[in-house]
Amino acid sequence: MSFRISGRLVAALLTLPIIAALTIPSAAAAAPKKPNIVLILADDAGYADFGFQGSEVFQTPNIDRIAKNGTRFAQAYVSAAVCGPSRAGLITGKYQQRFGYEENNVPGYMSASGATGDDMGLPLDEKTIADYLKPLGYHSAILGKWHLGNADRFHPLKRGFDEFYGFRGGARSYFPFDESNPNHRREDFLERGFGVFAETPKYFTDALTDEAVAFVERNQDKPFFLYLSYTAVHAPMDALPEDLAAFPQLSGNRQKVAAMTRALDRGVGKLLNTLEKTRLIDNTLVVFTNDNGGPTDHNASNNYPLSGTKATHLEGGIRVPFVTQWPGQIPANQTFAHPSSLLDLLPTFYSAAGGDSSNLKGIDGVNLLPYLTAETTGKPHQSLYWKKENRAAIRDGDWKLLRFPDRPAELYNLVDDASESNNLARQYPEKVTALYQKLFQWELQLDRPKWQLRREFEGQAMKRMDAFRKAKLPEASSNH
Ligand code: CA
Repeated sequence: MSFRISGRLVAALLTLPIIAALTIPSAAAAAPKKPNIVLILADDAGYADFGFQGSEVFQTPNIDRIAKNGTRFAQAYVSAAVCGPSRAGLITGKYQQRFGYEENNVPGYMSASGATGDDMGLPLDEKTIADYLKPLGYHSAILGKWHLGNADRFHPLKRGFDEFYGFRGGARSYFPFDESNPNHRREDFLERGFGVFAETPKYFTDALTDEAVAFVERNQDKPFFLYLSYTAVHAPMDALPEDLAAFPQLSGNRQKVAAMTRALDRGVGKLLNTLEKTRLIDNTLVVFTNDNGGPTDHNASNNYPLSGTKATHLEGGIRVPFVTQWPGQIPANQTFAHPSSLLDLLPTFYSAAGGDSSNLKGIDGVNLLPYLTAETTGKPHQSLYWKKENRAAIRDGDWKLLRFPDRPAELYNLVDDASESNNLARQYPEKVTALYQKLFQWELQLDRPKWQLRREFEGQAMKRMDAFRKAKLPEASSNH
């Protein structure tokens, strides 16, 4: 009897603190937990080369999951048709030409008239997404390709990121370098944190995936921003035998790019599975996108139904696959039809993290969350702009004007003609004049380029545009 009573007493005494423990923190935690933010960036991928974009041959079931669990953007644009400037725009939320980052920063390709080598990089007075998220309590990592300056002063750990595993340059082998070979540049080597260089025996895409998984497992108890900057599917065309074997019907670089995409998708799957296993998935905003259009001539990527390639302002150079999920916040299995920009990521992430994006100054991006939840109707952007030296483009409503160095401007109505095959410039001369002027007014706000590629590359860009002017249907795909 006494044992039973004391047992009840013990139970009662044990229950009280448990109830108290359950009650007090839940009251204190009335404010919603800040979401984690995961940005997965592919490199040089083709517009058509994903299941969610209509490919029936490329195997991307995991990236397709994001489209199914969230929203696919039908008209997402990068702010530049090549890697470096696109990433500078993305990470600052600003047109990168505002601070002179108009051209790609590739040592060995530059004109001596501007900055070269280690003097090229994201200007130190520009703030990155990680800089903005830090005071909101975020722990940030970038894994993979940086490409915003090779010098120590431009290093990710000096630009708001708490963790870095990757390389400073713009492209590298997917297999380990011989570290004793003097031909390899420092910015090509794998680096952990600051200045600790060590190659990995792993295939690079898989190495970045393993790092991303470990980062999530390590940081479950605090809000994080993970910028997973894969090099897939940028050249060199290095693929694993087991990934190549999955595409016996393909050959050459087309088989390799499919295999490299399969490794990329495997990585996204492992990361999503880790977010599920750690029960973070419902409180994580995930974005998957790509930094510029596919360079069909370099990696056999396909931008169908868009014309053009990387380095051109045709839609195939600047319109990219984009999917995002955030359960309960972003609608599932939807398509967002209006034009958007990767410049929008900064204010969107800032807002998701609890910041007031209307307080951001000098930003060209727009917080997309109210548009996705239909809290705001209408379009995030009336106009979007692109510029590289003489070449430029403006998207204004449904219209797009392209300006070239070696031929008259061209005008397209993208609603009727996403492939840019029917030039309407002669039929609508007033529209050409108005858009030409609007484009120029935007250009007047920009700085001069801090560095420029050698002039010969402009000639190559025009030849490249002509060579890939007509969109070509890949092996098997449905047209989105
Ligand atoms: Ca790229």
